[in-house]
Amino acid sequence: MANVADTKLYDILGVPPGASDNELKKAYRKLAKEYHPDKNPNAGDKFKEISFAYEVLSNPEKRELYDRYGEQGLREGSGGSGGMDDIFSHIFGGGLFSFMGNQSRSRNGRRRGEDMMHPLKVSLEDLYNGKTTKLQLSKNVLCSSCNGQGGKSGAVQKCAACRGRGVRIMIRQLAPGMVQQMQSVCSDCNGEGEVINEKDRCKKCEGKKVIKEVKILEVHVDKGMKHGQRITFTGEADQAPGVEPGDIVLLLQEKEHEMFQRDGNDLHMTHKIGLVESLCGFQFTFKHLDGRQIVVKYPPGKVIEPGCVRVVRGEGMPQYRNPFEKGDLYIKFDVQFPENNWISPEKLTELEDLLPARPEVPNIITDAEEVDLQEFDTTRGSGGGQRREAYNDSSDDESGHHGPGVQCAHQ
Ligand SMILES: [Zn+2]
Ligand SMILES: [Zn+2]
Repeated sequence: MANVADTKLYDILGVPPGASDNELKKAYRKLAKEYHPDKNPNAGDKFKEISFAYEVLSNPEKRELYDRYGEQGLREGSGGSGGMDDIFSHIFGGGLFSFMGNQSRSRNGRRRGEDMMHPLKVSLEDLYNGKTTKLQLSKNVLCSSCNGQGGKSGAVQKCAACRGRGVRIMIRQLAPGMVQQMQSVCSDCNGEGEVINEKDRCKKCEGKKVIKEVKILEVHVDKGMKHGQRITFTGEADQAPGVEPGDIVLLLQEKEHEMFQRDGNDLHMTHKIGLVESLCGFQFTFKHLDGRQIVVKYPPGKVIEPGCVRVVRGEGMPQYRNPFEKGDLYIKFDVQFPENNWISPEKLTELEDLLPARPEVPNIITDAEEVDLQEFDTTRGSGGGQRREAYNDSSDDESGHHGPGVQCAHQ
């Protein structure tokens, strides 16, 4: 089997490196079916990862680059084909696979350090408008005074106590003929495996080879970025001698918004209107995420049923990397009905004359049984047939002015 630089993409498809094209195709088809967003909406980016892995491995050129040079080979060989970056950093730089990827060797054979993951909370406004923010963090950098050597050249000696292994094995006798082997961190070198003579030690880093430095990163949150998206700063993680630094990865965390709920590029909001507005037209205003005041008008004569949804095209979130294209805004209408006894019986008769006519009164036979219609608190459930006399009080205004839960289709 070929000696491959990196197996992540093979792992994603669950096939061994060196799998045949047929095996790849089979594995891909099976997984794609399983994780398709239509079937498995909670699988997150799994489907994208699978598609990306297959896209690379089913292309002989890309596969060769990947087999030889791993991630780096793809990065350099791909020429940055459109839309690939996201899933790329997701798979390789995102820390998602860091448990297996941390110690991977880079192209030049150096060990690669751990990626550092930081959550970054952003408001929906920031994701709509874009934002540049500064992030201050403290990280290890190689000591400039000793070039990460810890002291003068030659000062570093292999620890004699542990023979450079950093750990010491101790044998403890528990009972005659019964011993326990214990491993402990070497106290002479604190597990480093090497020691530096006190006098040769670098003054600046005290022989630690690295020093803490405060670093300020400029973070660009682009319009249309999404919750869970990663912003990667390549090679900005902790430095250590002989190790290629990992990436700093910022994981966007979208804060909840008090007015809008986001669904991809679409926005959803709920607006309360009264009965008069639902029947006679209305206009209302709201402040959008970029501060614009938006006027929504609905003409007299058009009716809004309780719970129904209307759409404003193009007032959703901007698309990532194509911010002039926007999603849609869906407004759900919560129609507030008047309270009990809001009008005198005489006026009610007048109103009835104006409203659409009632259905014809059914024929009631003499021995029909008349029942009582009571108010009912839907939040308490039906209670398995238990009677709830308490709701017989019609002056109870806890309920009664909620509209029925009618749903109507999007327009
Ligand atoms: Zn130093
Ligand atoms: Zn030691």
